[in-house]
Amino acid sequence: VVALSAGSNWKKISAQAREFKPEMVAIRDENAYLELKNSLSDTNIQVFAGEDAIIQCAKIETADCMVAAIVGSAGLKPVMAAIESGKEVCLANKETLVVGGEVVTRAVKEKGVSLIPIDSEHSAIFQCLQNSREFLRRIIITASGGPFKDFSVEKLSSVSVEQALKHPNWNMGGKITIDSATLMNKGLEVIEAHWLFEQAYENIDVVVHPQSIVHSLVEFSDGSVIAQLGWPDMKLPIQYALSFPQRWEKVGESLDLIKIGKLDFCAPDFDKFPCLKLAFEAGKTGGTAPCILNAANEIAVQAFLEQKIEFNRIPVIVERTLEHFDFYPVQNIDQLLEIDKLARIQAEEMIGEY
Ligand code: MG
Repeated sequence: VVALSAGSNWKKISAQAREFKPEMVAIRDENAYLELKNSLSDTNIQVFAGEDAIIQCAKIETADCMVAAIVGSAGLKPVMAAIESGKEVCLANKETLVVGGEVVTRAVKEKGVSLIPIDSEHSAIFQCLQNSREFLRRIIITASGGPFKDFSVEKLSSVSVEQALKHPNWNMGGKITIDSATLMNKGLEVIEAHWLFEQAYENIDVVVHPQSIVHSLVEFSDGSVIAQLGWPDMKLPIQYALSFPQRWEKVGESLDLIKIGKLDFCAPDFDKFPCLKLAFEAGKTGGTAPCILNAANEIAVQAFLEQKIEFNRIPVIVERTLEHFDFYPVQNIDQLLEIDKLARIQAEEMIGEY
């Protein structure tokens, strides 16, 4: 590890820096800079702060691979910086492809670098596709359904932040856990899959699978369907992205199908979870629509976490923000980041009005 970055948690990155002894660390929150710097003053690790410092991390010459795990569209610039400096990118930040899929995948091709998914569903698809990519005809993305799978629409309006943050299977950060509860996470993953695997939206299906053991499936031209299975644990997809094309030794217990007993599947409820439908529609519309969808969602999720809006308002804010804008073809990152900013302002205004 030659460079590490963090948002504002200087204690954690300081401990990680002590463990891995990188050349540099960068923290986005400039207020945390002094504490981080002081905590590492007895080492020769260079400490920087601010967004540009994170981009410097992404470009560091001594690295050949970057793991991108920033949440939200904030990950876009560092990912582009890593690609442009010729690095392989292991992508845990789905918003990068939702917002900038067109620009990012074009840059990946131009630079001839690899983009390896860490998102568990996409890691599964990527694993299933090895050596057979040209025969891919359909992608089936599994969804746990989130903690409110069986809630009525009425009950959904009164769910608390605490309830929404309790994911039944996966242990993840705040933003993605709320996205899992609204099914927006699955919607973003559909768009992510569209860009990663170059499939039309008509060929991407979502299936609810509450056990989260089958991480996703692919169907080939001959009708054969291949799935990847494993415990719901991010260690494997992270490790596979790093070890690819090889495989290292397993980090957890072997999968035990007898212990699991049964695997259930059912259709997602698009009416109860409108975010999934909104994401499909924005993806199909293309251009700047997914960028606006994502920005509005980031603002709405934050407002829900701050208890400014009810859970049920998240899709309403996203939908109304989308309705407010015209959509344009994607040109470049600066255009996308400008639209991202405008969409955030618009979503904030709608939350203020509410
Ligand atoms: Mg996922």
